[in-house]
Amino acid sequence: MRDPDTVPDIRDFRRVVFFTGAGMSAESGVPTYRGQGGIWKQYDYASYACQDAFDADPAKVWDFHNYRRKLVAACEPNAGHGLIARCEEALPHVTVVTQNIDGLHQRAGSRTVHELHGSLWRVRCGDERLLSFDVPFEGRRADGRWWRPDIVWFGDALRADVIQASVEAIERCDLLVSIGTSAVVYPAAQLPLLARRAGATMIEINPDETPVSDAYDLCLRGTATDMLGRLCRNLD
Ligand code: NAD
Repeated sequence: MRDPDTVPDIRDFRRVVFFTGAGMSAESGVPTYRGQGGIWKQYDYASYACQDAFDADPAKVWDFHNYRRKLVAACEPNAGHGLIARCEEALPHVTVVTQNIDGLHQRAGSRTVHELHGSLWRVRCGDERLLSFDVPFEGRRADGRWWRPDIVWFGDALRADVIQASVEAIERCDLLVSIGTSAVVYPAAQLPLLARRAGATMIEINPDETPVSDAYDLCLRGTATDMLGRLCRNLD
């Protein structure tokens, strides 16, 4: 299936995992990390996206996250998010494993979503977690402590329960579709490769080649919406 003109029909698969990165949301207007307009080109992560920065100046970190919340709140899920949500209705088992924190898969209607890097819309303080769609979000609590964005920042560990659920879905899938990830952020980057061991068909959707492109059976060089449109062409 190396021929890019031979795009399979998503309906021929029973257990599908969509593994998504920032490129999935690029057509919704959410900036990617790297590449043109990438957010870390404008901001120094050491000052805004790590525990040390938060401990030193929580208000400053919240200002930055409120800025990101505002950007994402103004964005809508794109046609690709919509097709993935449709797949979950039409096929027996569909799981989204995402590196994105924007919540756009859920807003499009996807229900089984594992967020490897947390969510811009969830906050935590000790063991307490809260979903909040407020923009701006008032990070300081009534008891004087601060809510922390429930995002995996630089230097943070990924949540063991989220990794476990993701690995289980990937090891049992018969089709893995990786979309819009540069595959350079570890350990997330290596997860899709577990599908290979399980004998699944692997498809990469990305306008550019990535360091793991060779591991895929088929690389569709185009945007998430166009290429998902081809893969899902026969969904009603
Ligand atoms: P990345 O920014 O490193 O790479 C984005 C990839 O998407 C690139 O390979 C690019 O070629 C591709 N791409 C660009 N436009 C595309 C399109 N229209 N369709 C398909 N692919 C397209 O993103 P990453 O690999 O997800 O990097 C890691 C980190 O970025 C993650 O940790 C994630 O938490 C964080 N992040 C998330 C968001 C979000 O929630 N939307 C936004 C920025 C960064």
